[in-house]
Amino acid sequence: MAKDLKTKARAGELVTAHGKVMTPVFMPVGTQASVKAMTPEDLYKVGTEVILGNAYHLYLRPGVELIASLGGLHEFMNWKSAILTDSGGFQIFSLARMRDITDEGVIFRSHLDGSKHFISPEDSIRIQRSLGSDILMVFDECIPHPANYEYAENSMKLTINWAKRCLEEYQTNKKEGTALFAIIQGSTYKDLRTQCTEELLKLNFDGYALGGLMVGEPVETTYEIISHTAPGLPEDKPRYTMGIGLPEDIFRCVAEGVDMFDCVVPTRNARNGCLFTHKGKVIIKNSKYTKDPHPIDSDCECYTCQNFSRAYLRHLFMSGEILACILNSIHNLHFYIQLMKKIRQAIQKGEFFDYWQCFLATQNEHSMN
Ligand SMILES: [Zn+2]
Repeated sequence: MAKDLKTKARAGELVTAHGKVMTPVFMPVGTQASVKAMTPEDLYKVGTEVILGNAYHLYLRPGVELIASLGGLHEFMNWKSAILTDSGGFQIFSLARMRDITDEGVIFRSHLDGSKHFISPEDSIRIQRSLGSDILMVFDECIPHPANYEYAENSMKLTINWAKRCLEEYQTNKKEGTALFAIIQGSTYKDLRTQCTEELLKLNFDGYALGGLMVGEPVETTYEIISHTAPGLPEDKPRYTMGIGLPEDIFRCVAEGVDMFDCVVPTRNARNGCLFTHKGKVIIKNSKYTKDPHPIDSDCECYTCQNFSRAYLRHLFMSGEILACILNSIHNLHFYIQLMKKIRQAIQKGEFFDYWQCFLATQNEHSMN
């Protein structure tokens, strides 16, 4: 593992049954067995090594038994590299129409058709195992912000109890080459985060995620919690900040020693015509691009930038063509995956801090034009 000298950034690798993953890594989000507007071929071409799947969504539609009967999630969606599955905890708390939490698990109504379901921590592991996930996540309660101390403390204890049960279920039928990550909760209370970390470390998980962040708290609070929690995590295990984020957020987290990221931002922004470059964002609908013959980013080697002008991409976007979503998504994911590669190289050379400052300094060029 390579370590940066000026920050806590580190570069390493994660070995899965579906290939090696170089960290720090960005994982495109494929919630419904699809990274929106991207074929698996497109994902490989931009350098993707691992994607995110979602137990909650796939359990409700098309159903875990169906996917398992067709060979598991890799086979079903024809994805040959690694898959990390979210346990569904976050989605149950953010999407389900009704939920009732007990020590046993969660009763909830589907956001799709209102049907009633019960998922226990053990069920969540069984679901992720049936999907054929490489990296499984424990089932946790993700509480909204703000949460009072008493609620946050009780929820944190519930999350620890559920993590133990997830681990037992995982170890009972362990599949070689897979990993189970714990999720640290505790809202914005540092002592709860510390307590949660200590309890989860005793259980010796394969990796540790920080959950319950970017749920409405001020951004400085998010980073206070990350700076407070990350140093308490084992050096030799991967660290994952769930749902983060924007390129500038990724730099900040990498500087705190975080290794793994996922976010819908590159794909969602692509569909909304917001394109990332090293010189800042290009809002493709802007009329200044109407006759612009240049690619989104002249330094970018993605399929979109090698073949199409801003003028054409603007036209596709303004016409509501599906191809706009495809070409924009290819560019944004290529940007994210290449950014991570450059971050890893900078860490290995001991130049991460300088690369970070240089990135920030050049981010406003497009908006200043
Ligand atoms: Zn490009």
